[in-house]
Parts: sequence; C-alpha cells; structure tokens
Amino acid sequence: MTVPSVTLASISRAVRAGLAPLRADPPMPLSTWAEQHFEMDEESSHRRGLWEAWPIQIGWMDAFSNDDIFEVDVEKAKRVGYTKSVVAFAEYNASHRRRKQAIWQPTDDDRDSFVKSEITPSFDICRALDPVRRHDRDDDTVRFKRFRGSVLHLLGAKAARNFRRITIAVAVLDEIDAMDTVVEKTIDPYTGAVGRLEGAPFPKVILGTTPRHKLTSHIRRRVDAAEAVMEYQIPCPHCGVAHPLGYGQLRDEVSEHGMLWDDDDTASVRHVCPHCRHAIAQGDYLAVWAAGRWISRCGRYQYDHVRKIWLDGSEHPRTAPRHVAFVRAWTAYSPQRTWPDIVREFIEAKKAQKAGDSGPMQGFVNETLAEVWEEEYEHTDASVLRKRAETDLDIPLHVVPAGACKLVMGIDTQGDRWEAVTWAIGRGEEMWPIDYRVVYGTPADQSEWADKLDPLIKTRYRNVHGHDMTLDGVGIDTGGTNWTHQAYNYCRTRNHFKVYATKGDQALGKPIKMKPSWVDVNSTGRTIKHGVKLWRICVDTAKDLLYGRLEQVRKPGSGYVHLNRNLPPEWFDQLTAEHRIRIRQAHGWAERWVCPSGVRNEVLDCTVIAMFLAQVLGLHNTPPSTWALWEARLEPDLFADAPDKTPAQPDAGFPASPAEDHEPMPGTASVTPPPVVKARPPLQVPQQRTVMRRTGGIGRR
Ligand SMILES: [Zn+2]
Repeated sequence: MTVPSVTLASISRAVRAGLAPLRADPPMPLSTWAEQHFEMDEESSHRRGLWEAWPIQIGWMDAFSNDDIFEVDVEKAKRVGYTKSVVAFAEYNASHRRRKQAIWQPTDDDRDSFVKSEITPSFDICRALDPVRRHDRDDDTVRFKRFRGSVLHLLGAKAARNFRRITIAVAVLDEIDAMDTVVEKTIDPYTGAVGRLEGAPFPKVILGTTPRHKLTSHIRRRVDAAEAVMEYQIPCPHCGVAHPLGYGQLRDEVSEHGMLWDDDDTASVRHVCPHCRHAIAQGDYLAVWAAGRWISRCGRYQYDHVRKIWLDGSEHPRTAPRHVAFVRAWTAYSPQRTWPDIVREFIEAKKAQKAGDSGPMQGFVNETLAEVWEEEYEHTDASVLRKRAETDLDIPLHVVPAGACKLVMGIDTQGDRWEAVTWAIGRGEEMWPIDYRVVYGTPADQSEWADKLDPLIKTRYRNVHGHDMTLDGVGIDTGGTNWTHQAYNYCRTRNHFKVYATKGDQALGKPIKMKPSWVDVNSTGRTIKHGVKLWRICVDTAKDLLYGRLEQVRKPGSGYVHLNRNLPPEWFDQLTAEHRIRIRQAHGWAERWVCPSGVRNEVLDCTVIAMFLAQVLGLHNTPPSTWALWEARLEPDLFADAPDKTPAQPDAGFPASPAEDHEPMPGTASVTPPPVVKARPPLQVPQQRTVMRRTGGIGRR
C-alpha cells in the first residue's frame, strides 16, 4: 500500500518538530557559547550586540560549564564582570544544556533587583532563549522561570524554606559572604544549596562574592578547601616570568614590587615585577593581559583560555580539579578602572583610617582588593574566664549563693535539643551561673515541649542557707522556622510559670527589652491577634553589657559576673563565642557582635535571655529597701525546725509545685534535679553532675 507523498512529508515534519526539543547541541564551553549567543544591550556592546569576555572572565566561565568540576569559588572585587558571567550561565543552562538551576541572592530584595536589572533585560534580548522560553504568567515570575526542559529558581537566602523542596542540577550562591552564617538557626547556605543537588548526574555549585569579614566569610572557608586555588598571572614584558598583579603599597608601605607610586602622586603608579623589578604601566598590562593565564598556587593546574584546556605545570593536558577557586580577581585587572583611581581611593581610605574611621579602608580591602577584612574590635578570651572561675567561690552547681535573690533561666532551641542556663541575680545585677542543662529531643514535635521543658521550668534550687527557690522568669527563644509554631503553643499555655516567648532582634542601639508584639499563628500558619506576646531582645545591646561587665567589672559587687569552676569548659567557650566586628549593612557600616561560622554560642544566647528577664523583673531599678526585704527572707533560718513557711518568693507568681509533680523526665532520670525537700535541713550540697552523657537523653555532644 502506498502512502501519498504529501502525508509522508507531513509525518516527517511532525517527527522533526516532535524531536526538536530532544536534539542536543554539542556541548561547548560557556565562553564559546557566550561569544555566539550572549547579547548585550546596545550601549555596552563592543560588536554587534554580542558580549566579549575578558581574559580573566573566561577562566571561571569555562569552569562553570565544565562537567568535571563540581565546585567553583570566585573571590572577586566589584566591577570585574562577574555578575554578567552568572547571567550568561543561566541562559546557557536554559537554552544549551537544559539544566534545572537556582540562583540565591542574600535577601529577597537583592533577588528582586538582580532579576529586574540583570536577568529580565538580558533574557529579553537573548535570541538563543526563544525556542525554550515560556511566557505564561505562572511560568515567568520574579522567583521562578520555566523553560522547555528546565527551570530557573531565583531565591533569597534569608529564609530556610528557600533551601528546601526544589531539585536542581546547578546551584549558584551569589554574594555568599553577605548571607547569614546560619540561616534561621537551621542550615548554612552552602550546605543548604548543595543538598538540593542530590541525584543530579553532573551536580554543580558556584559561589561568587566580594569577600567580607574573615570571621564570617563563607568563601574563605571554601577557598581553603579547594584543590586548586587559581591566580591570574601575566607574563612580564621585560623578563617574561609570569606573576599575578600584586597589591604592593596598597597593602604594605615598604613593598618593593606590586603597585608602587611616589608620595601622593597617583599618576606615578606602576606595577613592579617581583622577579626583575622592572615596572609596567596600565597600558603595558592591557597589552599582555590576554597572554596571561589562571595558574594554581600549587603549580599543578593552569587553564589555557585560548585552547580552552586544563594543563599541568609542564603544559601537558590534564583533568580539571573537582573543586577550583579563583581568587584575587581584584580591580587592577579590570580595564574599567584606572590604576591612579585605585591609588586615590586607597589614599582617602588611609586618611579616614588615621582619623579613626576604618569603614572606607574595609570597603577598599573587600571591594577593590577582593580580600577579607581581619580587624576585630573586641573579644573576650574563654581561657581568661576559666582562670578567673578558679578564683571565684567554689560553690557546687545548683546551689544559690548568698546575696542572690532572683533566679532566671534562658532556654535556647536548636534542631535536636534545648539548652538552658540558669543565672542567680542579686543587688546591682550581680550574677552567678548556677545551672546548665542540655536536653535532647525534637523541637519540631509539639508533644516533646511539655515532656522535656516542663520539668526544667519547674526546677527548684536551694540556697546556701537551705531555702528552696523557684524560677522568677523563664525566656524561650522562638527563632528558627522549624519550631516557631510549637514554641508559641508551648509559651501560650505557660504564662502562670512566668514563661516568656522571646526572639533576638538585629536592631542596634535599642534597649535590651524592646516593645513586645502580639503574634501567634493558627493551624494554617496565619498570624492571629492576642495569642502569644513575643518579646524582642536587642541582642547587641545585651552583649555589649555582658562583655563590658566581664571585661571591666573586676571585683564582686554591683555589675559583677561570677563564674563557676564546676561548669564544663565548653560553657566558657560558648559564652565568649562572639566577636565584635564592623560589617557592611544596607545603610553603611555598623559594629556588631557576630558568631564565627561553625562555632557554638548557645550559652551566650541563654545568658542574653537571662539578662532580658532581669530587665523584665525590673532588677536594674529595684530600690535597696526591696532588696533588703528579699535578702532577709533568704537569710539563715534561726528556727530551722519550725514548720515550713510560705515560699520565699511572694511576688514571683510562680506557684510552688507539689513535690509529686516533680517526676523524672522521660529518659532523663540521670539528671533529675535534687529532690525537693520541704523541711530545710542544714545545707546538703547536691553533688551530681548537671551535664551528662547523651545516653541519658541529656548531655553534651
Ligand atoms: Zn619581570
């Protein structure tokens, strides 16, 4: 049976059209693809609207598209064209490789402006995207774009939920050093993004950033882990030996090579070769920059951007490193900034620094030199505090010393546990740490809150004179998206136990106790009014006060922070975890307390909550007559054998729980607080350890 040729032709056309989306173009390096397809708007184009990559850009661009490479880190200055390479890579993934991808910006606002100023204008003129682009309203939004065969997620890195659920092959973390070290107490952005790549045949993660402070820098830690740390080296026009552009006097006044100039004569700037000490001007550099190469510090890797191949130290082809970092991509490499202008910025920053303002210098080091900033302003040393604890009275944990009248407990919530620190407070806010607990559990599981925390908040302590004392206030941190709802539910029903729902606030220069707000969420996650009162704590103010007292108040009395030698060493490490540094904010520079990434600080967080509770109780302005009254009630009892009296805390509002309430926590019997004894015998100091192994359900890891 014959088939009409017209029908055959139309079948063949239909088959071709049907198979078209499956047709794979031969993969090409990103720089080659960009030369042919990455278009620029007319004003910034060099030739027919197509982009021309600079020699230094080709190195990281081709690393982006190389399937042998898993991770690419780029530590770069502003204005080296990095953002353009990210946009080109997004178009390349959508049109050429059909790979699912996500780009994270530090905040939702950053994401919005990135999409508006970079993604949308470029996607609109990129003709290579036409065959795969969809324009339906749901498929083309500011946070999500669907293409034929792939998707692009555009996300802010402030919310932990933005690191969940999506499945991608390519993860790009843009300006990662401006991202939080830990996102909503849950996960660091790098681990969060890499987790989304599971199952991808050619997973890829790309981190590019202007570096910021050394203590909080994500990129610096990733660069330290790289197999190949690449610097762009140019051949010296005089001796021919390759070397990177050095900072010279921009970092070191007595430098003999790198960028040098005479006095304040910015026009005299030249780059001096570290090998032959001959100088070149910026024009000489631009004549040889294309002959340069990215070469690893270890000498085992180099990338030939002309032949687009990886070479070893002897110019033989080799496989690419799996984890590569491109560093010191600083402004002197860019033809868009003159060298005298860089020197001018440096001289001005130096002047400001001499006048006491190091902000401009930090900006220069980060954004022009592409280096991390190391200066820190304040840090309390844990070993100094440990030594000081030895000089403090040797009082066992759990025992309230003489002079302490009020007890407050701060509870910090983590993904797999709660940590609680109890402080006793006396006149002039003199403080004594009296307890430290770690309770393992699952804060995401509502039922565990009552099981694990009720015994904690009902803890009774005994003072040195044998009086039983209950807590005058408990503050629970509700931050961390995985359990905010559960924390509210728990706090809502425990007002009578003086339990406060708290949240650290990033504001600066506010009082420790900020205005509370009524927040609560119902079962659908909507905020309802008059549910739980959420207390915001200005954490930086509290830390200023705490560290100031630790450093400056040297003898017991008003403002003194006592320590206890019976606390474990990590208690001291965590209390002193944070450093005061200057960081760039949305509106200029600010000094803040920050926790270096990977360092634990729960004891500090609990102590900040305890200081907030002292404010709530009004201990900072309690009159001496009231203190005297409180103290008298806790004095040695001259009639120790008399029947028990009213609890010593009439104003505490903490109902004395009957002894039978005090059941051991499930799985935590080993750390049950000392049994409550109604009569008051002479002090029997409880000797059991507060901190136990994990097998008991409570303890330190
Ligand atoms: Zn030379």
